[in-house]
Amino acid sequence: MNTFADTFCADLHCHSTVSDGVFTPDDLARRAKDSGVTLWSLTDHDELSGQAIASETAREIGLHYLTGVEISVTWANQTVHIVGLGFNPTDATLVEGLRQTRAGRAQRAQRIGNRLAELGMPGAFEGALPFAGNPELISRTHFARFLVQAGYFPNVQAVFDRLLKDDGPAHEPMQWATLESAVNWIRGAGGVSVIAHPGRYKYTPLQFGALFDTFKDLGGCAIEVVTGSHSVPQFKEYAQVARHYGFQASCGSDFHSPEESRIDLGSLPPLPVDLKPVWQDLV
Ligand code: AMP
Ligand code: MN
Ligand code: MN
Ligand code: MN
Repeated sequence: MNTFADTFCADLHCHSTVSDGVFTPDDLARRAKDSGVTLWSLTDHDELSGQAIASETAREIGLHYLTGVEISVTWANQTVHIVGLGFNPTDATLVEGLRQTRAGRAQRAQRIGNRLAELGMPGAFEGALPFAGNPELISRTHFARFLVQAGYFPNVQAVFDRLLKDDGPAHEPMQWATLESAVNWIRGAGGVSVIAHPGRYKYTPLQFGALFDTFKDLGGCAIEVVTGSHSVPQFKEYAQVARHYGFQASCGSDFHSPEESRIDLGSLPPLPVDLKPVWQDLV
């Protein structure tokens, strides 16, 4: 294939201060452009308030833009992230669904703070709050940044590994949106759904099969094949999954911060040429 769409350097997954990234949406747009990205999407967790400025800045600097979001979903008792791309960001059902998805975060943050106090780290809720650019979107990452600043851990990854990972002692599980709701909200707003970083989930092979089948039956389109959250062998593994299930393929750094992210914007290898890029029908 050598179509127009294949010539993009696409980065369709990253985070701003609207969720748990460290750069504002407009600074991220400029960073994407400077890194050689030609098709970009800002995919903050459960929140669209960065979309207007991201798309406006992208337009000003000559960067193709797709609206984006990363929705927190609970499926088979684990958290799965569904990226939505190319939707109408003012769609009332999507906006309301995301508001409900965010709603439990403040209380959950209090519970995480209580757990950390029990583990000998008091004041973490109050400490994490200033790290959250958007108080409705306080996340584990903000706690991790506070605990590093307070001197308990050398870096954010160490906090996740010791305390905040999904089965860690300070993690407070959440009941997020259902897979069906997330896919329906995105489709109802005219966009496409993508399973984010499938290599990160701790499902059995049987559960993975059920996840991919269910996602496909619900109208899900694509999976991330090349992402900053995958190892190089996983690029191949999930390319094979995309072929097997007939999914389109997406590519995104999942960039949050220069200090914390393994991969910067725009520095991933291209998708395997036989896979259909998820953006092909969107640009
Ligand atoms: P939350 O939505 O509050 O549960 O936080 C999820 C965010 O925490 C993810 O989007 C990542 O940015 C980060 N995160 C989750 N698990 C890990 C992990 N094991 N290592 C590093 N970061 C993680
Ligand atoms: Mn994140
Ligand atoms: Mn994610
Ligand atoms: Mn992400």
